[in-house]
Amino acid sequence: MRRLVPFLLALALCPLAHADEAGAARALEKARTNPWLLRQFMFAFPKGGDLHNHLDGSIYAENIIKWASEDGKCVAPASGQISFPPCDAQRPPVKDYAADSVNYRQLVDAYSVRNYERAPKSGHDQVFDTFGRFIPGTLGREGDMLREASNRRGAENTVYLELLQSYGMDKARALAAAEPGAFKADRPAGDWASHPVLQRIVADTRAELDRHEARWRELSHCGQATAEPGCGVAVRYLAQVIRTFPPEQVNAQIALAFLLVKADPRYVGLNLVAPEDDPGTLRHYREQMGVIGSLHKLMPEVQVSLHAGEFAFGLVPPEDLRDHIHLALKLAGARRIGHGEGIGIETGAPATLRDMARRGVLVEINLTSNAIVHDLKDGQHPFLLYRMFGVPTALSADDEGVFRIDLTNEYQRAAATYPSLTYRDFKAMSRNALAYGFVEGDSLLADTATGHFMPACASERANGEPKGPRCRALLAASTKARLQWELEARFARFEAQAHAP
Ligand SMILES: [Zn+2]
Repeated sequence: MRRLVPFLLALALCPLAHADEAGAARALEKARTNPWLLRQFMFAFPKGGDLHNHLDGSIYAENIIKWASEDGKCVAPASGQISFPPCDAQRPPVKDYAADSVNYRQLVDAYSVRNYERAPKSGHDQVFDTFGRFIPGTLGREGDMLREASNRRGAENTVYLELLQSYGMDKARALAAAEPGAFKADRPAGDWASHPVLQRIVADTRAELDRHEARWRELSHCGQATAEPGCGVAVRYLAQVIRTFPPEQVNAQIALAFLLVKADPRYVGLNLVAPEDDPGTLRHYREQMGVIGSLHKLMPEVQVSLHAGEFAFGLVPPEDLRDHIHLALKLAGARRIGHGEGIGIETGAPATLRDMARRGVLVEINLTSNAIVHDLKDGQHPFLLYRMFGVPTALSADDEGVFRIDLTNEYQRAAATYPSLTYRDFKAMSRNALAYGFVEGDSLLADTATGHFMPACASERANGEPKGPRCRALLAASTKARLQWELEARFARFEAQAHAP
């Protein structure tokens, strides 16, 4: 009888919860064709996480200009290239140059895709070329960057953020450049990982992250009454390997990424970035997947998400479009795929899609990024193809500063572009961004479509503290479960207020 009471209580509460959910679903339908209402709805809608967010790309141009000005950096007027002082006649101080409002506008455009349609460059080239121009302006401002990225997610009712960043990767590349023989493919991958200098880089990088996080928390007043919204977001990191360097340097970076994830719980996985259509990437792609696979055999607990199939037809020869997603899954053991736009043109795509659905490999969907970089819009995007095959999906921001967007914009874009997506579909995608996140711990959810809890919490509602000891134990042992509990509580609050007008 004691066991029945919570069950009956849950049943009694259920109709209310369903009424609230139905009301929120009606509110979405009313808002769907009105951009202003839809923006408001999706801004408040609880978004579980953002699994694909490059820290460098998440910074808005205005902050880059502000920091570079304050830090005495210099800028080349024609290109917008930022550099370190001393400045000179060809490279005046950013502070002076950007004081002119016409110059300021030109710099904002140079560090983002703002007005890119009017420039002679394609979206692809503008996006990939902009990083080199502005990154010198962000160096030394890592705490400010973490503050900006986390605050935006916190303000948008998002619980979790996985940030891609490359701390320490420059040192791993320098090591491999000095000792290329040590990181050659004919050496066992275990030898790379045990290189004493690489071990030292791991320790230095962890200390560097300590400093950046401390600065962020100081700037954001975390732990104080005036704490900013980002303090409440659970942030984890993906070690980000730049894959367009010579093979030895890529190998050393991949080894460093594995070691960072092993050594530091804030690192929950790794990823490979930089243009997939770069000739060097195309030449070495299979080899890079094999390197990840062999290190994965040595350190199977390290989780892998990979940019793969970030392609549109015509970007590269058809032969290069055949198998990148397939190889990321088969050789590298990827548990998540970033972009995956090229799936429809891969050989054996139906089998790959069925395999992803069966094994629960999630695709990180970046709608605005794909629309700008590859002109892949609306029905041309394989988003619905993945969903048709039952492959889990989650919406993410990619490079929100460069694209001048936020995560809300991606939910809004999906709702406006794909009328078949229901309110429950958005809830499932929001839950997916936690369930398939690499954050530590067992899942609270048995099913992201229904939101049903695992048996230990089956009779509970995410309202206050769990009542049963087994559920309390699950939450106490699992950060992921605690975040999922929080997300469900936010859904309940949102739905209680989101009745259609
Ligand atoms: Zn990306």
